[in-house]
Amino acid sequence: MHHNAGRDVAIIGGGIGGLTAALAFARRGAQVTVYEQAPALTEVGAGLQITPNGARALNQLGIDKALDATGIAAQAVIPMDAMSGAQIARFDLSNQTPPYRFFHRAALIDILARGCAAAGVKVVLEAQIAEIQADGSFLAQDKPVRPSLTIGADGLRSIVRGRINKPAQPFFTGQVAWRAMVTTDKPDPVARIWMAPGRHMVTYPLPNGRLNIVAVQERSQWADEGWHHADDPGNLRMAFADCGWQVKSILGDVEDVRLWGLFRHPVALSWHMGSVAILGDAAHPTLPFLAQGANLAIEDAYVLARCCDEDASLANGLRRYQDLRRARVVKAIGAANRNARNYHLSGIKRAVAHAGLRGMGRLAPDAFLGRMRWLYDHDVTA
Ligand SMILES: Cc1cc2nc3c(=O)[nH]c(=O)nc-3n(C[C@H](O)[C@H](O)[C@H](O)COP(=O)(O)OP(=O)(O)OC[C@H]3O[C@@H](n4cnc5c(N)ncnc54)[C@H](O)[C@@H]3O)c2cc1C
Repeated sequence: MHHNAGRDVAIIGGGIGGLTAALAFARRGAQVTVYEQAPALTEVGAGLQITPNGARALNQLGIDKALDATGIAAQAVIPMDAMSGAQIARFDLSNQTPPYRFFHRAALIDILARGCAAAGVKVVLEAQIAEIQADGSFLAQDKPVRPSLTIGADGLRSIVRGRINKPAQPFFTGQVAWRAMVTTDKPDPVARIWMAPGRHMVTYPLPNGRLNIVAVQERSQWADEGWHHADDPGNLRMAFADCGWQVKSILGDVEDVRLWGLFRHPVALSWHMGSVAILGDAAHPTLPFLAQGANLAIEDAYVLARCCDEDASLANGLRRYQDLRRARVVKAIGAANRNARNYHLSGIKRAVAHAGLRGMGRLAPDAFLGRMRWLYDHDVTA
């Protein structure tokens, strides 16, 4: 019995989590409407790594061919010494099934939006939802909406999370991040992690000869959360001015850069109440050091649609969704938090850590992937 058949589902937020949920519910027979505040379904110009755990769920939603045609399959992740420019190790990713891929965010949103359109999802743009009632009803463009299930996929500043949880206090992590893109004539299909004391930078290629850059620096000064604040590229170059020529050469080409502060948010205690649920960043924003925010949102969306479909009682389905997801999400967020520390070591700790990575790369290159198996091998479709 499929309990989503004909169910009237409203999704607030048309980002990666919201659109994946829309597609997952629609493919199980629900009548889905997405309410997005922006005038178009699109994303900032930046890259996104979709790891096998996220790809597995997306593939089950019938968009596998479009994903194959659009992403760049990653061959390896390569830790680099940002100071000397030396490669520390190379960990192979080429045998991942489904592949670990690099996407342009806008391209992934476009694939999901086309999938949603084909599955009959309705999208209402320029619909900023100001408030949700306890029964899940709300006003969209001044019209009352009373769905049988309301899903908050409304990101970091979720109003839906606020309806079913006490207010949470995010705190500044003492780290700021820049993102930028440059053109490259050597699009090597690998992710490089350039590590320096108190800083690191991740680079990977995107389609159309672009290199995506996320650079992180520890600092005591606070910077705004949210990644749309323009900064002077000179500040980014200055932060990495003592690094080797490779890093300086990449940053030398940056013309447009955004800076934002990295904040830690507690994972929401409740992911559902009555006929309201939350997913993705609305429930659990994460630091970007494990490349999992979007992947976890995709997993959430798939599991939520499945639990609601399989259980005759919506309340039981929502409870099962949270039970299946929360511990995994907490574990992934903890691992992301620890990564920043490992990337930013200095002095003797740095020398020891790099020697350890070098040894692992030479003697047991599979050990790196072995340590990621709990993350990448997870199969929400099983
Ligand atoms: C620099 C950086 C790099 C990252 N790299 C990766 C990566 O490689 N891999 C990965 O998996 N994750 C990555 N992430 C994390 C990832 O981007 C997020 O976790 C993911 O986008 C969350 O998706 P979401 O749909 O939950 O929320 P969002 O993408 O924030 O979408 C929320 C949507 O809701 C809409 N909205 C909000 N409020 C309302 C309202 N009141 N009414 C109507 N609409 C509303 C917004 O306009 C938006 O479209 C990265 C993040 C950063 C900052």
